[in-house]
Amino acid sequence: MLNRRNILILLIILFVAVFAFVNINQMAHNDAGSSNNASAVTRELIANNSQDKGYVEVIKNVGNPNAKKIAYVVGVHPLENDTHRTLLKLLPNQTDLNYCYDIYVINVTEDFSAYGKLLPDDNPGRETGQNLAYKYVYPEIVNGSYEAAIDIHAHGGAYPYNTFVFCPVDGGVGESYGRNVSQATENISYYNPYQTTSGPYLTIPLNEHGVPAFYFEENSFISQDIKDRHMLELIHAVDNLKL
Ligand SMILES: [Zn+2]
Repeated sequence: MLNRRNILILLIILFVAVFAFVNINQMAHNDAGSSNNASAVTRELIANNSQDKGYVEVIKNVGNPNAKKIAYVVGVHPLENDTHRTLLKLLPNQTDLNYCYDIYVINVTEDFSAYGKLLPDDNPGRETGQNLAYKYVYPEIVNGSYEAAIDIHAHGGAYPYNTFVFCPVDGGVGESYGRNVSQATENISYYNPYQTTSGPYLTIPLNEHGVPAFYFEENSFISQDIKDRHMLELIHAVDNLKL
């Protein structure tokens, strides 16, 4: 029987239900509109062929998914994976990023070493990483509407600076982005060593075909705390570039 009291109770239940529904909807909506939309982040496998001795993934839409896009690349030289892990740990956890970031992750599965481990010969793994970069990452970035690309590396201390950026092609936008990052940071120098093995597989053709690209190099033998601090300097200087 629907007497007055029951109708009142039904109305209250209905009112509470509608109120809750609107609130949940608003929360979902606010989340989608925020600048760090974790739900938009995806991880895809873009290459996995047994003859390649490795595979390539991309983590997409880190930061502000509606903004201009920048690509990061890690894993071209698998020996240098401490620095790659540092970027993968820090970049996806930054809030309030201005731009949208895709991180290309090259995973070499055979014949590689790591700084500090000094396993015999890293050369086959380096070559594999470079080949994967040219075969799979380069076409994705050059055709992917990116405003810039940053290739993350580490070194064993043979350079005059611990932490530096450089563009292997002088005189273009890639160089000016690299110099801007260096000027905006306390600990990142601009230093072009004028000899890279990986340049022809990624950063040189990117610069030559419309995507300004530069290297980030970190000394593999400094402490993880300092590597973290330097990587955060890079991430935020890149995020404040005027594209
Ligand atoms: Zn390298």
